[in-house]
Amino acid sequence: MDVWSFCKTGGHVESKDITLEFPRLAGDDHLLRCVVHSWTVRGHVNSRSECVVTLTGAFSGWFSCTVCEQAVEQRLTFERNLILKTSESEADAYDDESLDEITDVIACVGDVNLRDWLEDEILLACPMFSRHDTCEGNTSPELSSYKQRASRDDTAVEQEREVQRPFANLSDLLKGSKK
Ligand SMILES: [Zn+2]
Repeated sequence: MDVWSFCKTGGHVESKDITLEFPRLAGDDHLLRCVVHSWTVRGHVNSRSECVVTLTGAFSGWFSCTVCEQAVEQRLTFERNLILKTSESEADAYDDESLDEITDVIACVGDVNLRDWLEDEILLACPMFSRHDTCEGNTSPELSSYKQRASRDDTAVEQEREVQRPFANLSDLLKGSKK
C-alpha cells in the first residue's frame, strides 16, 4: 500500500471494508486469544505538511491471570498517530519532545503492510500483567492471596529448609547413639 498517497488523498480504510487476519496475535504466548472487534486507518497531512497515519481499534484479549492463572478477558482499545518520514535518519532526528504519547515518528521506506502496523498496535496495547478483580472457581480470594504470599515466600522457605536440615541430621545421630 502506498501510504504517502493514502495520506495526501485523505485515505480511510476500516475493518468493515477489508477482513484482515492477524497471525502474529495468534502466535503470541502472552495473548491466549484475541478477537479484533474493529479497526480504522486514516491518513491526512497535518499543519506542518507531514503525512500522518492514524490507527485506532478495539479488541478483546485473553491473558493469563497472575493470581489464579486462568484466562482473564480484557476489552482494550488503541489509538496511534504515525508521522511518516522518508528515512531512518530523518525519523531519528525528529524532536520527540514535541510529540504526545499517542504519536510516533516512523521511517517509511517502500511498501507498508497495514496488517503489521495494526498487529504492532494491538500488541502494544496489551497489559504486562492481568488479573481478575475476583478470581473465581477453585480460587477463593483468601486462597489466592495465600498463593501469592506462598510464591513470594518460596525462597525464604527454601532457606529455612536448608537451616533445618543439619538439626534433623543431628537428632538422627543422637537417636542413633542412644541405641
Ligand atoms: Zn484470577
